[in-house]
Amino acid sequence: GVVTRFAPSPTGYLHIGGARTALFNWLYARHTGGKFLLRIEDTDRARSTPEATEKIFEGLRWLGLDWDGDAISQFDRAPRHAEVAREMIARGTAYPCWSTQEEIEAFRETAKAEGRPPLFLSPWRDADPATAPDAPFVVRLKAPRDGETTVSDLVQGDVTWKNETLDDLILLRSDGTPTYMLAVVVDDHDMNVTHIIRGDDHLTNSARQTLIYRGMGWDVPAMAHIPLIHGPDGKKLSKRHGALGVDAYRDMGYPAEAMRNYLARLGWSHGNDEVFTTEQAIGWFDLTHIGKAPARFDYAKLESLSGQHIRAMDDSALLGELEGFLAAQNRPALTDTERAQMLRAMTGLKERAKILPQVLDMASFILGKRPFAPDAAGAKALASAPAGMMEKLTSRLRNANWTPSDLETVVREFSTDEGLGLGKVAQPLRVALSGRTVSLGVFDMMDILGQTESLARLEDCVN
Ligand code: GLU
Repeated sequence: GVVTRFAPSPTGYLHIGGARTALFNWLYARHTGGKFLLRIEDTDRARSTPEATEKIFEGLRWLGLDWDGDAISQFDRAPRHAEVAREMIARGTAYPCWSTQEEIEAFRETAKAEGRPPLFLSPWRDADPATAPDAPFVVRLKAPRDGETTVSDLVQGDVTWKNETLDDLILLRSDGTPTYMLAVVVDDHDMNVTHIIRGDDHLTNSARQTLIYRGMGWDVPAMAHIPLIHGPDGKKLSKRHGALGVDAYRDMGYPAEAMRNYLARLGWSHGNDEVFTTEQAIGWFDLTHIGKAPARFDYAKLESLSGQHIRAMDDSALLGELEGFLAAQNRPALTDTERAQMLRAMTGLKERAKILPQVLDMASFILGKRPFAPDAAGAKALASAPAGMMEKLTSRLRNANWTPSDLETVVREFSTDEGLGLGKVAQPLRVALSGRTVSLGVFDMMDILGQTESLARLEDCVN
């Protein structure tokens, strides 16, 4: 079966590019009924703090990208990496090298002066081990000097390197620690990875890694190098484009499902389908429809997708998203009453929202507590109500039958009796109920809040 993996280096957050790579690997594994593994490339001890690793777990969990089995620490596997390096020496595909930094630099200088490529050719490659000094050494790959190495990439097609351009890269440092190149190959092999899906900044590495696989007589996994994400200005996505971590999007209130949809569309397509559920994406995902051109990050598109997901989501799923968002913001959890009221109001709450805070903002008449301090426009609307009107309206409503249509009848009759346009009555009423001039329909709000609470709010505004 298919085995994919996500192999992030912990940097303190899960960035958008990494999240997209993780998503593609996850989708492909779920689509094929295979496995999606997680490996933390934590060999850089200074950067790889437990906090930085936790950020990656957090980002993946929020995106719902569950991995199979436990996350693997690359650092923990260092003894295995060293073992493979020794085995390659035994197989004659790697060799110990005692060249000093000075010797390597001198070699490069001479090569440059003589117009040759500055690729270091170690004198130890074919030296008699009996002549070896008793000193620390690095282990180098014995890379083929002629011929070519071709990577048959599932996205980029066949990519070929002249072997004379690939040097005898270091596999094991003189302190016995593995280089990135060795560690990745050994780990992918031992984890039985069948498909490596990652950013195309790793394409050249794939040629070097292919040589390591061959050095061990191992099968090379299938590779799919996906074009990097560019910012709206067409340049490679970077810090200067802002909001690089997925946590920033969670905090802005994009639902995880919308984010998955958006990230899936960054470089992959399914006909003209723009809005789809995660189940659909799992059903459709393939490596054939990953584009060759860099995808461009487009905030407006993300927003519009997000709004469409919010409206399409069923009410209880949306409520779940809202509760998750409140929890992530350390805001109070919803009470049972608030939850029930939110569900009743949901159609109106989500009507125009693009992100979750906009839904919560519309729900302020439910989540807020009286007395409501009206916003500026609200205060103006209240002040323009004729003297005594709120009091009369309140007593009229006291005997009303509390359904939206009966309430509407009462308020209409009241405005006729008072010789006021409906808006002149409804707008102060809206402000009394919600503190603002833009809200759900007044009769729906009264229905959701109930008679006691609604009348109490009106009484707060009697002038
Ligand atoms: N750790 C590497 C990175 O964060 C990815 C290595 C790989 O996918 O092979 O870029």
